[in-house]
Amino acid sequence: MFSISRQLRREAKTVGFVPTMGALHEGHLALVKEARAACDVVIVSIFVNPKQFNDNTDLEKYSRDLTADAARLAEYEVDYVFAPEQAEIFPDGFSTHVEVEDLTETLEGSSRPGHYRGVTTVVTILFNTIRPDRAFFGQKDAQQVAVIKRLTSDLGFETEIVVVPTVREESGLAMSSRNSLLSDEEREKAVVIIEALREAKLAFKKGERNASDLTQIVKDRIGAEPIARLDYVAVVDRYSLQPIEKVGDEETLIATAVFIGGTRLIDNVILNRKQ
Ligand code: AMP
Repeated sequence: MFSISRQLRREAKTVGFVPTMGALHEGHLALVKEARAACDVVIVSIFVNPKQFNDNTDLEKYSRDLTADAARLAEYEVDYVFAPEQAEIFPDGFSTHVEVEDLTETLEGSSRPGHYRGVTTVVTILFNTIRPDRAFFGQKDAQQVAVIKRLTSDLGFETEIVVVPTVREESGLAMSSRNSLLSDEEREKAVVIIEALREAKLAFKKGERNASDLTQIVKDRIGAEPIARLDYVAVVDRYSLQPIEKVGDEETLIATAVFIGGTRLIDNVILNRKQ
């Protein structure tokens, strides 16, 4: 992969990179489409990164189907699929990790210790191998976006981070590889997550500015659904991820993680998007 990427740079081609863990759905494909529209060459990686799973059962359950994924990517005219073996990324004796501080201590970071250390380590290896001009990440993983932007800026990667809006099913449920673990009933009930977030956003639009009242709306709505169990809900600055008490002009997220049966799903909405 490294020699291909060197060749592409020599030819002055702009390289767009979409890192994924496979089990591709419309959410991933939206990133691929953006990359295809913006870059000469599109590279998609498929690597189920063991270091970002803090729960072994979660890692084992993760769905893997490289043949189906590669076929989908061919439809989108992806130039290269990089699907390394685990030992190519983490050979015997591997002992270097990359850790972004502060931003990783809240939300997903506090519920899933070590998760972001795994993410930032693998993204650093992939960025070093591919040297992309642009890398595409989904807003669904809002904290990941903030962490990767910090990583890129702190380590001086010459890669522009492009953020793609969350792709949803018709019901509003955010697309996720984990949705395939839901039963039909759970999938139907999982809509409560976006409904709760939208109810809070509506309250914001009507003038509610208190974070505790906005989170209470989400808590009540999730609490009323027996199949759902709230892990966290927080109102935070979109970039610093610092908790906000009263929402002002800065772009602010309501981010949540909810268990639907045994499956943990995350989602977020932006309250006051600029532009
Ligand atoms: P994953 O394979 O889950 O690691 O996701 C790979 C990339 O796809 C990440 O940048 C995710 O944020 C992005 N992604 C996953 N689901 C969605 C979605 N529903 N909408 C937009 N991007 C998504």
